[in-house]
Amino acid sequence: MLQSNMAVNPQGHFVFAGFDTVELAKKYGTGLYLIDEDRIRGNCRQYVHTMRSCMPAGSVPLFASKALSFKQMLRIINEEGMCADVVSAGELYTALAADFPAERIYFHGVNKTDEDIAYALDNKVGYFIIDCYEELYALDRMAGERGIRQKALLRLTPGIDPHTFAAVNTGKVDCQFGVPIETGQAREFVSAALKAENIDLVGYHCHIGSQIFDAQPFCDAIDIMLGFISMIRDEFGYTASVLDLGGGFGVRYVESDPHVDIPACIRRVAAYLEKACIQCGLPVPVVLMEPGRSIVADAGVTLYTVGSVKEINGYRSYVTVDGGMSDNPRYALYGSEYTAIIANKADQPADYLCSIAGRCCESGALIQENIMLQQPERGDTLAVMVTGAYNYSMASNYNRLRRLPIVMLHEGKDYLAVRRETFADLLSCDL
Ligand SMILES: *Cc1c(COP(=O)(O)O)cnc(C)c1O
Repeated sequence: MLQSNMAVNPQGHFVFAGFDTVELAKKYGTGLYLIDEDRIRGNCRQYVHTMRSCMPAGSVPLFASKALSFKQMLRIINEEGMCADVVSAGELYTALAADFPAERIYFHGVNKTDEDIAYALDNKVGYFIIDCYEELYALDRMAGERGIRQKALLRLTPGIDPHTFAAVNTGKVDCQFGVPIETGQAREFVSAALKAENIDLVGYHCHIGSQIFDAQPFCDAIDIMLGFISMIRDEFGYTASVLDLGGGFGVRYVESDPHVDIPACIRRVAAYLEKACIQCGLPVPVVLMEPGRSIVADAGVTLYTVGSVKEINGYRSYVTVDGGMSDNPRYALYGSEYTAIIANKADQPADYLCSIAGRCCESGALIQENIMLQQPERGDTLAVMVTGAYNYSMASNYNRLRRLPIVMLHEGKDYLAVRRETFADLLSCDL
């Protein structure tokens, strides 16, 4: 099996987090997101404990809540001692609704509107990660109006290509996020931020990309960021005390993906940072990391019911399920690979080549192409693995499909954390 929280039981059923998935499909209906809460908590602890053990006091992981945001998820993140990063007022609203302490929330996002800024200031969000000049000036003005000196980091682009898929590579110079170092613009940006009276600049942020399988790209980012911190210190006499290295550690979607030893990578990053700081004569900054995918992806499985098996003679076979691009757009968006299994035939050989299609009315709306499954037929339960990140959070109501519920699996108990949308929900904004 792909992961240690997966198995096959004597009935030949696929077991996830100790639960017979065929039974869960019967109990809750399909499509259905399952989330292994214990796996999430374990993933959180790897980051929290490792960062605490080898980085300066105050170093902490922030959960990139865009990967999976709903109230219970934010409660779990809080209980595990992580901070949260939000990229919109809606994600902030969700975190606050879960009683997430505002001072532990970092407000990210490109193009925060005045309404977003006011909402975050009025709710006393801990830190802003400022993306552009317009935001810097608006935040300075609006914080001043409220008599607040707002703590903030600046989002900079170090110009790193971590060799990942272009659409999820956000640290290179030519992108819409942050301000680039290479062009000299970041220097000007810092200069402006240091002049802003109502902004307390604590440091810099960079996010180099996603699905990164080793520590090296982070070490490369450290070289560039420390070079920048030294240059600013020499020129302006300002030394950043916080360095946010962003998210991006990868997960195994398929057997051929490498396994990332996250604690080992964090220790390597910490050792590299310490050495590089000594070389530059800089104090070691407090480190923030922003894992999203590596906290939740391997905690998720999606269950569907097979509706049809269509063999196009001379071409290929399509298996359709009661979900699709509306609950998992990642294949349609990025061509992402997934592992799938017929959950009620998990002990049978996977010798049937097919593509998995959903119910959305687009030819590209596939969940996976050319995958090997057990012989499928109508009524079977299909499980797609490693769907905890960027599935629920990217879900849509395309074709007026109702968004799926989330069932949490925790210490042998299953409970509903997000209910299935109803037809009435689909009309809730229609006048
Ligand atoms: C997407 C994103 C993350 C999380 O990335 P993962 O690959 O899910 O770990 C963290 N920080 C920022 C700024 C992001 O845009």
